[in-house]
Parts: sequence; structure tokens; C-alpha cells
Amino acid sequence: MKIAIYPGSFDPVTLGHLDIIERASTLFDKLIVVVMHNAAKSPMFTVEERMDFLRCTTSHLNNVEVDGFSGLLANYAAQRGACTIVKGLRAMSDFEYEFQMALTNRKLNPDVETVFLTTSAKYMYLSSSMVKDIAQHGGKVADFVPAQIEEEIFQRMRKDG
Ligand code: ADP
Repeated sequence: MKIAIYPGSFDPVTLGHLDIIERASTLFDKLIVVVMHNAAKSPMFTVEERMDFLRCTTSHLNNVEVDGFSGLLANYAAQRGACTIVKGLRAMSDFEYEFQMALTNRKLNPDVETVFLTTSAKYMYLSSSMVKDIAQHGGKVADFVPAQIEEEIFQRMRKDG
């Protein structure tokens, strides 16, 4: 069974992420979307909230699982028996960091290959930080996040703010 993992912050999941998830899910027997705890970033949503958003958004995809992890991705891949790490590439600006991560992960776990899926052109400008900025200033995020979670994002932000 070919298992792939798609790691990220997903703070929150956007239509750009969902596009990568849908496309990657057709390439592997199982795709695990992993919400990574990253102490360096201060997320707006908790890991549980981000996982809830992802579960709700991917419920139509039978071979997609949502998980959370804190630690080295290379170790997580080994634990889950994954052969591939999936990453999305938006622009050249993503490339240098992702390239470094891919080489590092290969060094740590040579059994795992990193593959890059190119963003769909309509989502190339889209990032979670942009969504948060817009929502915080009361703007509409309907064009950027899955419809099922739009209201939830506002409610949780209102609760926090
Ligand atoms: P961000 O906070 O920058 O949106 P994440 O850490 O949540 O990023 O991203 C997880 C993965 O999804 C990364 O590989 C990132 O390059 C990819 N990704 C994020 N947004 C998009 C998009 N709009 N199109 C394609 N890939 C994307």
C-alpha cells in the first residue's frame, strides 16, 4: 500500500491546500494530512481546531486521514510507513525553503521521497496568512477557504478576539 503524508500548518486550511489534497489523494492508496505543531510559529487556531477544519473539509475523500504531530517529519513518515512526502509549490519563493527541507528529510530518512505538486494557477497567490489577515479585518474569505468552514473561522475568531 502506497502511503503519502502531506504536512503543513493548515492555519487554517485553504482552497489551495484542498486542491493539493484532492489531487494527491488520487495518486496514492492513502494520504495522511498532518498538522505539524511548530513552536516557532504562533498559530491562530489550535492543532485540534485545524484538524477539525481539515476533517470537515476532506470528509468526501475516503482515502484521506487527518493527524497531528510534533517532532521530526522524517520520523513520522517512518512510523506511519509512508513512502512519500507531498508538498505544494506556489511560486519560486516557496522553492528554496522546500528544496532545503526535502534534502534534509532525505538525509534523515532515505526511504522517503518528497514530491512537489504545482499549485493550480487560481490558487497561486493564496496562503493561510492572507486568509487570517482578511478575516481579522472583517473581510469575506468565501473565495479562499472551503465553504463548510467559513462561518466556523469567523465564530472562532470572534470568540478569541
Ligand atoms: P501556508 O501557511 O504558507 O499556507 P502551510 O504550512 O499550511 O502553508 O502549507 C502546507 C503545504 O501546502 C506547503 O507545502 C505549501 O507549499 C502548500 N500550499 C500552501 N498553500 C498552497 C496553495 N495555495 N497552492 C499550493 N500549495 C499550497
